Amino acid sequence: MEKILEVKNLQVSFHTYAGEVKAVRGVDFHLKKGETLAIVGESGCGKTVTSKAIMRLLPEPRPAEMKEGSEILFNGKDILKMNEKELREIRGSEISMIFQDPMTSLNPTMTVGKQIAESLRIHRGMNKNEAMAEAIKMLELVNIPNADKRVNQYPHEFSGGMRQRAMIAIALACNPKILIADEPTTALDVTIQAQIMDLIRDLQEKLGTAVILITHDLGVVADTADRVQVMYAGQVVERGAVKEIFNNPQHPYTWALLQSVPRLETKNKDVLYSLNGTPPDLVKPPVGCPFAARCEYCMGICLEEMPEITIVDGEHSVACWLKHQMAPKVEVPEVLRKGE
Ligand code: SF4
Repeated sequence: MEKILEVKNLQVSFHTYAGEVKAVRGVDFHLKKGETLAIVGESGCGKTVTSKAIMRLLPEPRPAEMKEGSEILFNGKDILKMNEKELREIRGSEISMIFQDPMTSLNPTMTVGKQIAESLRIHRGMNKNEAMAEAIKMLELVNIPNADKRVNQYPHEFSGGMRQRAMIAIALACNPKILIADEPTTALDVTIQAQIMDLIRDLQEKLGTAVILITHDLGVVADTADRVQVMYAGQVVERGAVKEIFNNPQHPYTWALLQSVPRLETKNKDVLYSLNGTPPDLVKPPVGCPFAARCEYCMGICLEEMPEITIVDGEHSVACWLKHQMAPKVEVPEVLRKGE
């Protein structure tokens, strides 16, 4: 499948009073046409910074700084070298983003219909009437009932789930090639979460949009994504096809994430696994493996050298010294093997 986005050696720092926070440290990945790539990790692992860097939504050049050597190629053109005019042309029409809390991105003083229509008028050159008719169609597409009436309502007249649907309608109005969904369901209750994820999947099939799904929850990923990339302390520690990551995880941090997701065999009385400790201070990142302080398999070398990337199988790769030929053999935790 054709690659539409390639992120190469992305390094993003934030200049703060405490020092330079190296939030993203040499991240590489690609996105293929029409696929869903999930980026998973705890808060502060760099997943949201990565997605905002793609949209160039970070406060540059200060406090945020894109380091020399970083590249974000969209259809072969480096987004990091684009000027404001070029960025305006791709934002919304080629790459769109939806956020966790639609209230912070929807304009409370404008009707939902006008907000969808605005993007259509700017990017697709429609006149007012055409854009409003299309806005109604978009609201219908995202399953908003009575779309012809709802189009004239304000965001506060919508429920939380409907606001998220409206955000999706705005984001997809111009049929972008890439949709970045940053924790799109975190603020919603479980049933609505499932509906929103189904909706994103349906629309993706209909419109052929590629999706980058940012989430801290591997449970959301299982049914939605084609590939997963696990991030920790500003780096990618494991990546691969969803099936591979769920059935054959290799990194102790991925094990910890998977063990904290309820499984079919989890009983009510079972206490879910929780990972102790906190991620490292990214003002002074460790020289070795960033997960060492929390890893029960930590060896001497882990503290001294950054782990090499090992190819497990095809697209499945992992950055962990346990994969080194000299390392002791460590099996995937039993609780994760039960689900095979
Ligand atoms: Fe643990 Fe070492 Fe692997 Fe890091 S490299 S995850 S510390 S075993």
